[in-house]
Amino acid sequence: MNSTAPSPVRAGDPASQTADAVPAVDVKGVTKRFGATEVLQGIDLSVPAGATTCLIGPSGSGKSTLLRCIAFLEEATTGTIAIHGDPLGFAEGPDGKRTRLSPQAIRTVRSRIGMVFQQFNLWPHMTALGNVCEALVTVRKMKRKDAEERGMAQLTRVGLANRAAHYPSELSGGQQQRVAIARALALDPEILLFDEPTASLDPELTGEVLNVMRDLASSGMTLLVVTHEIGFAATVGQRIAFLDHGRLLLNGSPREVFGEPRHPRLAQFLETYLDRGAATLL
Ligand code: ADP
Ligand code: MG
Repeated sequence: MNSTAPSPVRAGDPASQTADAVPAVDVKGVTKRFGATEVLQGIDLSVPAGATTCLIGPSGSGKSTLLRCIAFLEEATTGTIAIHGDPLGFAEGPDGKRTRLSPQAIRTVRSRIGMVFQQFNLWPHMTALGNVCEALVTVRKMKRKDAEERGMAQLTRVGLANRAAHYPSELSGGQQQRVAIARALALDPEILLFDEPTASLDPELTGEVLNVMRDLASSGMTLLVVTHEIGFAATVGQRIAFLDHGRLLLNGSPREVFGEPRHPRLAQFLETYLDRGAATLL
């Protein structure tokens, strides 16, 4: 497979990003190989600051891998990723030579990114508040009292102030995911990444999590959301990126991406993933 061929990325909506604005995340020529398999085949993706970008695509297309590379949980094989202009983990010179950043520099850049996963990954032996405060105390070295104050503020933000003393086993899946979002927010990230945050929830619990995310989006946070909730993507996302077989096929406003004529691969994807309710939103 040829990783250098340009992907047919559609032009973006110029109104949503001025030409000289530094993107929150700037992915350039990123490939990722696992053994002989090239899972990401030369991704260029610029995520504008203060907006919500939704990343959609079939299962196995590389969405999680791309998110993990952006969060530096995986190292891209080639290419660069910059967070507000700062290279993440490595920089690639004009000669293609990669310079690795120091572990300290990597930690600093990573601390600016929050991540919410499909599995909530809460500590079962800690209360909701304990889960939200843990990293503030152990990683950020905050005093417990200050951490609890900040933790309560974030639990309030996701509508769970009255569940602060509950353990994960006493909370619904939707509430657990909202605790996980509060935990990510407490670290005050500049960019919040979501990887299918509602995929393991029963349908009746999906709405409360999407509502919290909708509030975050309208507060002007920078969000990058991998989701199969196409209705959410179409109504909340200001940018839609469509990944297929490790290539970014489309990247533009919801109108550009979902409007007619539709890219045949997108049409095929929507046929598989879209329910009737969401179809009316497009
Ligand atoms: P998506 O999130 O879009 O479903 P993923 O990024 O999880 O896709 O996976 C893309 C491809 O990369 C899949 O074929 C998957 O099997 C492969 N893959 C992901 N992680 C690894 C890994 N650690 N080792 C080998 N293959 C992997
Ligand atoms: Mg995935």
